Amino acid sequence: MSIDASGPTIGVVREQREHEHRVAMSPAALAPLLKAGARVLIETGAGEDAGFGDAAYADKGAEIVSRADALASRVVLRVQVDEDAVAGTHPGQIVIGLATPLAGVATVPALAEKGAILFAMELVPRTTRAQAMDALSSQANIAGYKAVLLAASQLPKVFPLLTTAAGTIPPARVLVVGAGVAGLSAIATARRLGALVEAYDVRPAVKEEVESLGARFVELPLDTGQEGGGSGAYARQLTEEQLRQQQELLAKTVAGSDVVITTAQVQGAKAPVIVTSAMLDQMTPGSVIVDLAAEQGGNCEATVAGEIVDRKGVKIVGPVNVPSTVAAHSSLVYAKNVANLLALMIHDGVIDVDVDDDVIRETLVARDGEIVHTRVREVYGLPVAAPPPPPPVAEPGTEEVTE
Ligand code: NAD
Repeated sequence: MSIDASGPTIGVVREQREHEHRVAMSPAALAPLLKAGARVLIETGAGEDAGFGDAAYADKGAEIVSRADALASRVVLRVQVDEDAVAGTHPGQIVIGLATPLAGVATVPALAEKGAILFAMELVPRTTRAQAMDALSSQANIAGYKAVLLAASQLPKVFPLLTTAAGTIPPARVLVVGAGVAGLSAIATARRLGALVEAYDVRPAVKEEVESLGARFVELPLDTGQEGGGSGAYARQLTEEQLRQQQELLAKTVAGSDVVITTAQVQGAKAPVIVTSAMLDQMTPGSVIVDLAAEQGGNCEATVAGEIVDRKGVKIVGPVNVPSTVAAHSSLVYAKNVANLLALMIHDGVIDVDVDDDVIRETLVARDGEIVHTRVREVYGLPVAAPPPPPPVAEPGTEEVTE
């Protein structure tokens, strides 16, 4: 079933949010869109902060236009779908970007009301087919890398073992909590810098991946009531008692670490507190925590988003929008994710939002003035359509026999 079929101009606007240096399209990702018959209209200076000048886009076939012209496009690509998107969107326009659809923000219903066809990059399903569109992973990968550099720049020690004429310096001890995409990237980066790395995740299934990167997996005899602390690839939220048990068991490892990088999150929930103030008291002055969950409430009790807190000599770094601090490469991979999603919708110069495609359906948040995504509707307390009735069960002995 298709819900749209009209001419494709794709607009790319300069991000308006403070400290947002990324851009939603790169010169390198233009080719497949142009080949599919689209015109790409880049707002003057849109890629400047990410190191992509207007000329680089123009060389690859994009048109450099005013903000008003970019905003008048059939499709508008953004990094942040925020208040600026609400102001700049017209009815029937396709908007693609990071919209935080599960956080209950006001912009999502406002865009639905404006009649936008809104796609949230966060909702790209974590399937093999959709991997090339998975912006959460592409950005988390870079955030994990940068978290280690932030830690290294605050630590009054070097990371690698150094044997010098003046004596031997032991390697820094790094603990990574949460071994999802960002955690695994942090482990690999810390290892490359020569640190001794340990990692912990509530899902024991990640042990093998952690070990394959040369880190030790910290096993806690935690009673999660079910294997892996969650079903499938995702962690589920721990109970208060399980979290308390976890904090107690992890305290010794935290105390012995020079650096703790926390990345633990549970989709759609506030980040769990894993490093308590009591645990910080046990750390050596000079130690550093980098809390990548700072914007979701923080994995460390003392985290303040956007600040570096000095607590009795222990530094707690609560960075926000880490991918934006590596804007060129974050934009490069994000643009690829967006272009790959768009490629599913543009055929022979025509945009076709085919909701029979599972990736399109799963990322579509709003259309025709309504929020249409089931999980997002739940977040906003909207009624969710009842599932279709199950097929009738045949009476025993009445089944049709087929050859
Ligand atoms: P995330 O950002 O939601 O969470 C980060 C990590 O924190 C997870 O590994 C989670 O288990 C862990 N965590 C949550 N609560 C914790 C607690 N109390 N203590 C310790 N750790 C805790 O995760 P993510 O990076 O988005 O990835 C989640 C999973 O999805 C991973 O297994 C990842 O490999 C998988 N994934 C699959 C695909 C794909 O198949 N295409 C793509 C991306 C990610």
